[in-house]
Amino acid sequence: MKKTYNLGIVGYGGMGKWHHLNMDRIDRVNPVAVCDIAKSARDRAESYGLKTYDNINKILKDDSIDIIVIATPNHFHCPYAIKAMQAGKHVITEKPITTSSANLQKMIDASVLYDRKLSVHQNRRWDKDYLTIKKIVDDKMIGDVFTVSSRVMGSRGIPGDWRAKKAFGGGMMLDWGVHLIDQALHMFNSPVREVYVRMQHVHYSEVDDGFSLVLTFENGVVYTIDVFTSCYINLPRWHVCGYEGTAVINDWSCDGKIVNIQKGKENEDATPIEAGAGLTKTMAPRTDKSTVEHSLPHIECDEWVEYYGNYVNAIEGKEELLVQPSEAMRVMRVMEAAFKSEKQNRSINVNI
Ligand code: NAD
Repeated sequence: MKKTYNLGIVGYGGMGKWHHLNMDRIDRVNPVAVCDIAKSARDRAESYGLKTYDNINKILKDDSIDIIVIATPNHFHCPYAIKAMQAGKHVITEKPITTSSANLQKMIDASVLYDRKLSVHQNRRWDKDYLTIKKIVDDKMIGDVFTVSSRVMGSRGIPGDWRAKKAFGGGMMLDWGVHLIDQALHMFNSPVREVYVRMQHVHYSEVDDGFSLVLTFENGVVYTIDVFTSCYINLPRWHVCGYEGTAVINDWSCDGKIVNIQKGKENEDATPIEAGAGLTKTMAPRTDKSTVEHSLPHIECDEWVEYYGNYVNAIEGKEELLVQPSEAMRVMRVMEAAFKSEKQNRSINVNI
């Protein structure tokens, strides 16, 4: 009979509760306890029949727990993960795994020392929009890709809680940046060679409330990531150009299309048009004489449960972790290069 792993959740706010309520989709992981400093959060957990603790040291003494998920504000991830591994627990942290590469190295060292599995919940690797773009890139549906624009845009600012405080690991780079950089690094098997960022401080000076980041990969792909929180008209979620076409995904519902050039017919509709106060052939829109439109490829989107299934198999030595600490280290180094770029107002050469 296969073992079931008991889960303890540290931090039972928005995301801690999300882990709990999604566990009924996971075969061999059973949520049993919560630790939160807020009584209201503990009351909520108790109403679901979970055991509760008000302090990290207390939940770590609970011998029934095998896996700890850390879903607190970001600055607690590192010390709590190390304590948990020292106490014999396997650890999943929410993203970002921590707030610096130095902290992450300590966490990796602890996972080796105590022989515990450490991973970070990069759940957006299972987003349907991302998987669709990855398939278009992998299958060369628009030929070799030379530029990717990945954007998330909203108008509600950053929540005015711990996310607005630097000491808590706030700011959009550590919040959404970590997801979108992880997707970028996972999309191309190539090192990043240059990092350039411009951060936004529309409503907050202490932390960034948005940014535009440009990553240049060694394979030549220029990958732009825009995270805006003060924007009322959104640009497409994805815009990807290859040598044989372009792909667009407009929104989370995966509305979008692919347009391919028809080989040998590139100049069939090359007619100058009146544009503004002038004339242009270069920018003239194409017609179906030279291009052909395709639907986006079909993707099975509900694979997120694979994250926990793989984690359990990794504990049992049957699979490698899908989200490795070494991958989190690459993401962290890109974010650190971005902060350096902002501070020094220049692009940063890297080999990440
Ligand atoms: P939240 O503010 O809603 O919840 C945080 C909870 O942690 C609160 O209940 C708070 O009382 C508790 N807490 C604070 N300090 C604590 C401590 N020292 N010990 C125990 N509990 C403590 O925040 P959230 O939105 O749930 O974010 C939590 C984590 O999840 C963050 O790291 C965030 O980046 C991440 N997150 C991930 C995703 C995702 O899609 N993967 C989405 C949202 C948030």
